[in-house]
Amino acid sequence: MPTNNDVLTIAEQRQPVLVQHFKNVIKKNELAHAYLFAGPNGSGKEELAMWIAMRLFCINLQDGQPCGKCEECQRISQREHPDVLIVEPEGNSIKVDQVRLLKSEFSKSGMEGNKKVFIIAGAETMTASAANSLLKFLEEPSGNITALLLTTNPNLLLPTVISRTQEMEMQPLAVNELQSQLESAGVGKHLLALTSRLTNSPDQAAEWLVDDWLGQTAAAVWQWESQLLKPDMSAFVTVGTTLVPLAKDRPHQRIVLDIILAGFRDMLLENIDHEKFVMSFPSHRKDLQELTTRYSKKQLVDVTDLGLQSKQLLERNVSFQNVAESLTLKAFNVLSK
Ligand SMILES: [Zn+2]
Repeated sequence: MPTNNDVLTIAEQRQPVLVQHFKNVIKKNELAHAYLFAGPNGSGKEELAMWIAMRLFCINLQDGQPCGKCEECQRISQREHPDVLIVEPEGNSIKVDQVRLLKSEFSKSGMEGNKKVFIIAGAETMTASAANSLLKFLEEPSGNITALLLTTNPNLLLPTVISRTQEMEMQPLAVNELQSQLESAGVGKHLLALTSRLTNSPDQAAEWLVDDWLGQTAAAVWQWESQLLKPDMSAFVTVGTTLVPLAKDRPHQRIVLDIILAGFRDMLLENIDHEKFVMSFPSHRKDLQELTTRYSKKQLVDVTDLGLQSKQLLERNVSFQNVAESLTLKAFNVLSK
């Protein structure tokens, strides 16, 4: 959970719509008892939760906006506020003792009727017993309590927990905001457009940057695609020598296919002479222009369809090598007509 003074700014930058939503909801006194905020790392769900806590306690509200500076706001951001409790995973999970502690803190702190907020970050890591313990708490709303559960993956939560909360998906980041976060995560300018097509999560992007995996994979996919468009059957060899070693496990294999699809999208849009689209591989635009002029739109649409079918094959547990080789052969047939 963030503890710095920027939480309010970050909440407004990353989730402007939801900040506005909660401004209205709190003003009308219609805040629900429990919320589940779902969104990738970097989407601003932690900051939104802190914003709500500050909004409820700030003694210096300005036009429905917490000040971030008063004693209450400061105690919340320092995590020292007795009525705002934050639970985070200890190690890999949130354990039943942590939930019990939360419950006992709440039963003793303050007088009845006092506002209280608790935030559970990484809610999907709750053990079954922790989740069951929390469930009783959510079932018996005592007093003026607001529960904010945060998760990157709501599918991992017990349905009984989800059903007692109001689920809210974080809005996708605005393109500018996402790209500036990706740049801060270390994504080079030439990979920004591609990366923002592949993920909403700067943390995810940072993982792909380890050992320059993303840079190497983008270069390998471009090599393969340009061979295919010549059309040159060495593309088939490139699958085994270059793409397969980079596609080391299922998650990476999915991304390699997504990068191939991003390349196909460039090819199609270049061919139909779309003026305003953002290319995933901007540095290869000129080459792509030359390579695609000889093909009909139908041929390129067919190749893109083959790319989409490859993704389905991979999900049916066909090996990545088989999927990529078969895509190469079929695309080659289409382009050689
Ligand atoms: Zn304040």
